[in-house]
Amino acid sequence: MDKLTALFNKQKVFHKPAVQERIRLLKNLKSEIKQHEKDILQALAHDLHKSEQEAYTTEIGMVYEEINHTVKHLHKWAKPSRAKTPLTHIGSKSMIMKEPYGSVLIIAPWNYPFQLAISPLVGAISAGNAVTLKPSELTPQVSKVIGMIVERVFKEEHAAVVEGGVDVSTELLKLPFDYIFFTGSVAVGKVVMEAAAKHLTPVTLELGGKSPCIVMPDADIKLTAKRITFGKFTNAGQTCIAPDYLLVHESIKEDLLLEMTTCIRDFYGDQPETHPHFGKNVSQRHFDRLSQFLSNGTIVTGGQRNEQELKIAPTILDHITWEDPVMQEEIFGPILPVMTFDSLHKAADMVKARPKPLALYLFTTSKETEVYILDNLSFGGGCINDTLMHVATPYLPFGGVGESGMGRYHGKESFFTFTHEKSVLRQTNRFDFSFRYPNAKNGLEIVRKFFK
Ligand code: NAD
Repeated sequence: MDKLTALFNKQKVFHKPAVQERIRLLKNLKSEIKQHEKDILQALAHDLHKSEQEAYTTEIGMVYEEINHTVKHLHKWAKPSRAKTPLTHIGSKSMIMKEPYGSVLIIAPWNYPFQLAISPLVGAISAGNAVTLKPSELTPQVSKVIGMIVERVFKEEHAAVVEGGVDVSTELLKLPFDYIFFTGSVAVGKVVMEAAAKHLTPVTLELGGKSPCIVMPDADIKLTAKRITFGKFTNAGQTCIAPDYLLVHESIKEDLLLEMTTCIRDFYGDQPETHPHFGKNVSQRHFDRLSQFLSNGTIVTGGQRNEQELKIAPTILDHITWEDPVMQEEIFGPILPVMTFDSLHKAADMVKARPKPLALYLFTTSKETEVYILDNLSFGGGCINDTLMHVATPYLPFGGVGESGMGRYHGKESFFTFTHEKSVLRQTNRFDFSFRYPNAKNGLEIVRKFFK
């Protein structure tokens, strides 16, 4: 028997731990992360050139927040809840048990390699599951640290890290896990769903896509520029919910782009492609793919490349059309194409004509505009007058819709994602209404009185 199947078989018979034990393990997980913060930061700097501030905020801090929130609320979430009982069931009681699915497979991507592996792990463990976690092969140092931390906290039959690339993923996907949680590209999401369908395994798919950022003439231009620049160029644009493209009202385009150029200089200096606080592209393949987009439209700012360090300076491309290559796929890099509109309705129609995005950002001070966009456009989640921030709260469910994914997690939603809600009705033996039985006198008449 191969190693993966052996691990799978061990986890399959793992018995769910009591809630108190899950809490103890989650606290241990946090303290192991704390002890190895330096290793995590070093690995993130090595694999992605993440600065300490960025790495702490978006990877480690978010995980602490997720663990704290879960530990605080887990007893309440995990408790069986009472449900109402209708008149037809008089005498009985109804409850919903919170049962772990059993064995869970988590497949993680490389762009936030720590947070996007550990956050779903926290959810799966909180619900009482056993977990096989496969981090990305493109961030090997981070994967190693994750493996080491998980090994120190959990017994193998409870949670284990399996390193490897597509070949390992493919083998794992052949096994009949009870739940699969996948974060990654739309294309691979389809592969995962197809594999899961063979065993009727339920899935959460956290995917990507092209997230629009709409800016109206009544927006606060300075603040808008700062917040878009932050959201787009954090992690060198390799963020699933980064604004992929800008749809700006034609009357304010020049002003906005000027402000954004200033912000880029403020954040990353005159030579961002060598700046220590600016991330790198994850691989030569990704760097080459992004480099090709630089010839689309005209460059407003940026365009410099540092091939040795795999860095492309934050770049804004003007005069872009929907037909340009940069608009045919998720960019996932530090390049922002700009398109204009002259009416809100036209902007909304452009977004509506495309697959439902993972995120949408709207900059406006008009309540009416806000209502129009929120009522008319479907997207996973987003912000009014900001970017990215909706992902960083345990109180908002995070996930996509349509091509950007299915399912949601964070906070309470993570617990429920990895939980089967088992409905149970406890009947009384004190009496028994005979009208439901086939030989009951006047049975049909009585049933008709109840269900009309
Ligand atoms: P990816 O789909 O290439 O890889 C994700 C994971 O799947 C990796 O662990 C990889 O080893 C594995 N994998 C790759 N090919 C596979 C195959 N054929 N069969 C089985 N497994 C396979 O994605 P990525 O490049 O790591 O990440 C970038 C993508 O992820 C972007 O599209 C981004 O938008 C998306 N993403 C989404 C979220 C979210 O929360 N919705 C978060 C981060 C990234």
